[in-house]
Amino acid sequence: MFLTISTTGTAERPATDLGFLLHKHPDKAQAFSTSYGKAHVLYPEASAERCTAALLLEVDAVALVRRGKGKGRGGAPDAALAQYVNDRPYAASSLLAVALSSVFSSAMKGTCQAKPDLPARPLPLRVEVPALPARGGAELVHKLFEPLGWTVTAAPVALDTEFPEWGDSRYVSLVLDGEQRLADALRHLYVLLPVLDDAKHYWVATDEVDKLLRAGEGWLSEHPEQKLITSRYLSRRWSLTRQAMERLELVRLAEADDSEVEEIDNAVDEQTDTEEKPVPLAVQRRDAIVAALKAADAARVLDLGCGQGQLVQELLRDPRFTEIVGVDVSMRALTIASRRLKLERMGERQAERVKLVQGSLAYTDKRLKGYDAAVLCEVIEHLDLPRLPALEYAVFGSARPRTVIVTTPNVEYNVRWETLPAGHVRHGDHRFEWTREQFRAWAGEVAERHGYGVQFVPVGPDDPEVGPPTQMAVFTATATTTAQRAKEEKAA
Ligand code: SAH
Repeated sequence: MFLTISTTGTAERPATDLGFLLHKHPDKAQAFSTSYGKAHVLYPEASAERCTAALLLEVDAVALVRRGKGKGRGGAPDAALAQYVNDRPYAASSLLAVALSSVFSSAMKGTCQAKPDLPARPLPLRVEVPALPARGGAELVHKLFEPLGWTVTAAPVALDTEFPEWGDSRYVSLVLDGEQRLADALRHLYVLLPVLDDAKHYWVATDEVDKLLRAGEGWLSEHPEQKLITSRYLSRRWSLTRQAMERLELVRLAEADDSEVEEIDNAVDEQTDTEEKPVPLAVQRRDAIVAALKAADAARVLDLGCGQGQLVQELLRDPRFTEIVGVDVSMRALTIASRRLKLERMGERQAERVKLVQGSLAYTDKRLKGYDAAVLCEVIEHLDLPRLPALEYAVFGSARPRTVIVTTPNVEYNVRWETLPAGHVRHGDHRFEWTREQFRAWAGEVAERHGYGVQFVPVGPDDPEVGPPTQMAVFTATATTTAQRAKEEKAA
């Protein structure tokens, strides 16, 4: 019974940081005793580019029965033989979930003393579970993990490869890919592995509701399959399920009320700005973007990396924008955006114009095709440089809107921010900040590669020496695509 977690990295941000996050050194294989057998943690690969941690659980089927807890669903004792001969030693299940939480407890809480900044950072993660018992099959696996931002590959495992006519077993081989914080990934697995297995190895008591709500913090209250998850997790004990659902509803309402949440990215800009100028930079940026969208005659617009939805809100005010889609990798940001927009209380006509979807811009996404324009407002600098080509392809190669608007800080201007210590970037999560020349070079190459023209617009006071605080590029598709050309040739 095992699962692996892998990540990729660079010399500056080595993949082996995974070891710090998991609190387990990549050079060592370690073993831990649990009540049901031994858990091993080892790293099949550990380099700056790629690091994989494996958690392997050797289940002692006899111990499982002796503890008097080898009971099936609903608590009924299994038939005598099935108690000893069952799939528990091989399949991922609630046992693996329990091992996860005991071996990686700090990682699950998102604490890392050695590198305190690490847990907050989404990483490119891949989780593999070769034998996952899944009642509900691959279809349910997709429904459970996709809303959390995972790209899911769930292949049914044949009952016996020598006898394909026997059909599939109730196992799937699962691969999850996504840009996630490690703590979130572990908490998703901790809840959803036993939900898919649907056969808890222990009696479900009231404190399971607390455990579920703790592990589900930040994602369960918004999950479309919340009811199935809750009821299966609590082994269909209806009173507990009802209790959990009620508490989740309270969580949702409390979040909807909590207005102290700060704007993440614009804090520095707005603070510094209001002292000198009446219009905060963030507002000037949105005005510049809206003006460029109008000039491009765009009606159906993507806001990629929409964050907490300020631009989406602005666009909604103008009826010329008939369809607005906000995309972000962060579920938390989207939750705040949906609150800001009061999506739930919105009238039907208005609600039809707007959609918020979770997704990573580092992957191509069919849902993003066919729009008039896409905006990347203060987003590219949040990606590690080596991931930028993936975003470039997803936006300019695959989604291919007619117009793409990109804004990013101009690092030259940083000397003008009085509150910014020399050599610092404007926001802790900025992976880079570019000079005007660097941005122009990048934008020029992107335009060239994908058949776009590009123009540059300064946003904020254009300082004669260091330029404006925000630089904006407006890309317009020029080249006819191969498909268009084929169509035209046919017509001619
Ligand atoms: N556009 C917003 C938010 C900018 S902050 C504004 O101008 O206010 C950057 C946003 O990009 C964050 O919300 C972050 O979650 C999102 N982001 C970072 N990497 C991403 C990725 N790979 N895919 C999608 N969104 C991403």
